[in-house]
Amino acid sequence: MAEIQLKSLAHSYSKHPSGPEDYAIRQISHTWHKGGAYALLGPSGCGKSTMLNIISGLLAPSEGEVLFDDVRVNELSPKERNIAQVFQFPVIYDSMTVFQNLAFPLRNAGMAKDRIETKVNEVAEILELETVLHRKARNLTADEKQKVSMGRGLVRDDVSAILFDEPLTVIDPQLKWKLRRKLKQIHEQFNITMVYVTHDQLEASTFADKIAVMYDGQIVQFGTPRELFERPNHTFVGYFIGSPGMNLVAVERCEEGVRFDGMTVKLGAGLQSLLEQSTSSNLKLGIRPEFIQLTTTPSDDTFECDVTDIEDLGTYKIVSLMLGNQSIKARVDEDHAVAPGKIHAGFPRQWLKLYVDEFLIEEQAE
Ligand code: ADP
Ligand code: MG
Repeated sequence: MAEIQLKSLAHSYSKHPSGPEDYAIRQISHTWHKGGAYALLGPSGCGKSTMLNIISGLLAPSEGEVLFDDVRVNELSPKERNIAQVFQFPVIYDSMTVFQNLAFPLRNAGMAKDRIETKVNEVAEILELETVLHRKARNLTADEKQKVSMGRGLVRDDVSAILFDEPLTVIDPQLKWKLRRKLKQIHEQFNITMVYVTHDQLEASTFADKIAVMYDGQIVQFGTPRELFERPNHTFVGYFIGSPGMNLVAVERCEEGVRFDGMTVKLGAGLQSLLEQSTSSNLKLGIRPEFIQLTTTPSDDTFECDVTDIEDLGTYKIVSLMLGNQSIKARVDEDHAVAPGKIHAGFPRQWLKLYVDEFLIEEQAE
């Protein structure tokens, strides 16, 4: 297994790119450390598959370098890079049996026959394919085919890394959950560097120790699920992670801090001086629905809102509020009584985030 380093990577599918919008990968410098379980999370079209294909060597990047354990591999073929890649749709040989399909990567690598037998049985057991091991692949269900495809990726433990490109898309939801746990288990057992691509935040956080959030051809944050939740580094992370996502309100500078719709939000001196260093007028305040405090009694640091909707979801409630002209959402405990009409919202300073040009600015801890 290897540490995979991407250095100033950029890729355009266009021969003559005329601007940043022509790039599927805009500018990425990033390291996937040896043995890590990672997710690459982002919406459709943000460049996830492009990145994986550049790592495995199916695609040559327009700019930048790919290094495995500090050695440049740009010129190496996919085979020489020794990466296992599992795609969204099954890549298997229909005319071969499941056993033969699983054994194929091992035979290619020149493994001894009895060792192949052991490995194939091991993987078949993990993926619960034992009963269909001697069936021709063409006779399998869609789920089973994809399991075989995954098995082909998992069967070798001498690979530099395993890349999964939305492998569970075609799998039935119940089985999906189970397979995700299996992958995690396999990772714990073999400690192979794994990068798991998905557009589903739940899938990302159940599989990965650390998640890279990708947006518009860039990695905008790399962190633990908790870090992405508590300290979104970019408005997109705030919006994309969480249910519902972070409230984001456009604001403008004022004497004491920032304001919107005639309301002023005071900022600490440190943050205020950071804000003065920028001239951008693209300023947003962000707070997650979970961190808004709703009370019936106003105080110096609460804002009056109108409750417009209360959605009871069993274990918690989503309260829709109008704050000035802004519609925001708060998430409160099930037993927190909320009635339609006026209410007061508090935004604890710790959880109130300020974004300039979509990126977080914050005071450095002393
Ligand atoms: P994701 O996997 O995150 O959905 P992709 O890496 O497939 O995103 O695509 C990133 C961008 O590159 C998209 O705008 C997509 O339309 C474009 N793209 C992907 N593959 C090709 C290709 N072979 N030729 C031209 N454009 C492509
Ligand atoms: Mg893709």
